[in-house]
Amino acid sequence: MHISSDRFKYNLRIFRKAFLPWALSSPQHLWMAWNFYRKVRKKYKLNVRLQHKLDYPIPHSFVLSLTTDCNLACDHCYARAYNEPKVLPKKVLEGILEQAGALGCFFFVLTGGEPMLYPGLLDTLSNHRDCLFILITNGF
Ligand code: SF4
Repeated sequence: MHISSDRFKYNLRIFRKAFLPWALSSPQHLWMAWNFYRKVRKKYKLNVRLQHKLDYPIPHSFVLSLTTDCNLACDHCYARAYNEPKVLPKKVLEGILEQAGALGCFFFVLTGGEPMLYPGLLDTLSNHRDCLFILITNGF
């Protein structure tokens, strides 16, 4: 059986460059980071255990496009190809996060359109405190 660790190494690089500097910036952040690390480590171990058991590669990470809606209108953007905004139904998003979590997936890149326009996004994500979410946002 061969299970590629490339994805995990990539995620680890993001963790070191983006998350670690934040964690080391205050004692409170460090405590939050330590608790988060313990939860993610548990999920990672579950993921590896399932990969071995099923003899099948299971990703640690997902990219989810939540909506084509955006508050900007950049010329090059593929999201503008839609006449009406398309939004991933909330039940589908919750189902994906639940199922992915049960497989030990813990790293999600959320994109769009503009993911911050997704209705109730922060409430939904707060139900998955053992996952890491990165938003590709325009920041406006
Ligand atoms: S999703 Fe990004 S690229 Fe597309 S219009 Fe919005 S800000 Fe521009």
